[in-house]
Amino acid sequence: MKITDVRCAVIGSNPVVRIVTDEGLSGYGEAEQYKPYLKPFVLHYRDALIGEDPTDVERCMLRIRKRGSFKPWGSAVSMIEMALWDVAGKAAGLPVYKLLGGKIRDKVRCYNGAIRRPMKGVSPEDYAAEAKWMKGLPHGFSFIKMGVAFHSQMKHEVPNFHYGELQERRSPFHGFAESALMTERGMAHLLDCVHAMKEVLGTEVGLALDCGPGFTVPDAIRFARAVEPLNLMWLEDTITGDYTPYVNADVYRDLTMSTTTPIHTGEQIYLRQNFKGLIEGHAVNIVGPDPCDIGGIAELKWVAEYADLHGILMAPHGTGNGVLGIAALVQVCATLPENFIAFELPTASHDWWWDIVDGLPAPLVQNSLIEVWDRPGMGVELNPERTKPHLKEEDAGFFD
Ligand SMILES: [Mg+2]
Repeated sequence: MKITDVRCAVIGSNPVVRIVTDEGLSGYGEAEQYKPYLKPFVLHYRDALIGEDPTDVERCMLRIRKRGSFKPWGSAVSMIEMALWDVAGKAAGLPVYKLLGGKIRDKVRCYNGAIRRPMKGVSPEDYAAEAKWMKGLPHGFSFIKMGVAFHSQMKHEVPNFHYGELQERRSPFHGFAESALMTERGMAHLLDCVHAMKEVLGTEVGLALDCGPGFTVPDAIRFARAVEPLNLMWLEDTITGDYTPYVNADVYRDLTMSTTTPIHTGEQIYLRQNFKGLIEGHAVNIVGPDPCDIGGIAELKWVAEYADLHGILMAPHGTGNGVLGIAALVQVCATLPENFIAFELPTASHDWWWDIVDGLPAPLVQNSLIEVWDRPGMGVELNPERTKPHLKEEDAGFFD
């Protein structure tokens, strides 16, 4: 089998890649809804892939992998990897999880880090209200993740939250590095919000916190120690993370060794080599790569095994990866070792996305679990007839 074309369409706001082959099979992959600008980067790899056998996934990846980088630039490579596995699975008549070594679980756990409604403010009462709403969602999530401190409007809306000048340095780019030492008042406000959420959630629904990046090390240690009695799931991206193009594993180690609160990072990191310091240095307790940023699902599985070997847990990121992204996460997470906790359930950029993809179970999530399906490839299909009305004019030939 040979690749005859690599196409990319922005559907809603998600870039979607289609690998076209000479045997009538196609494979699809999708990246986050926040990254429509990736389309030219996806097409940049076209010439390197045409003529290659898509079922030799690793051989194809060797032709393009070194042209990727940390989030967001690794996404173009990652979504192509997922599309290659989709073709390979369809060609073999097997679900992708079989090609990755087989599933070890029939249901995969997910958590809520993305299903949101607009927050009224950043007071402890506002946080408690959101926690209550999330606790009542029909998915029955076993735990939720909330953005606080530098990963929320708290840093801008709470007066004298920190000693920096972040308002003046605000950037149009999400996650752009903003860092400052917090004031005593800022830390007290943050702790009040966390306590308010825990009061609502009790021990029935766990709480993880997306915190930064932006914490200084002393504040991160102070905060992690202060919440120790609350048994949080984890503190994510305190020091680096999100869109930070480096890791700083040694700095994370200082934090992780100072507290019993689990420390988590890794959503922006591209490739296994860049997890080396975190994992071999035991610099965090949990890694959270995104299959759509790390370089694909096989790369994510490799890092999960590597982390497991070192007693480090795995909770993959997935916020905006969309409906095809859910399928990719289910396929790979079904195969991960026992260090797997849960993946972050992606949302779709538009409600109609749920109608243009066939093959997902309905309801998708029950008691925080998704049943693993057995159809070939990723096991979901973009329905051309229902998708076409949503294609932009320049993408009209996507399914031709
Ligand atoms: Mg995060």
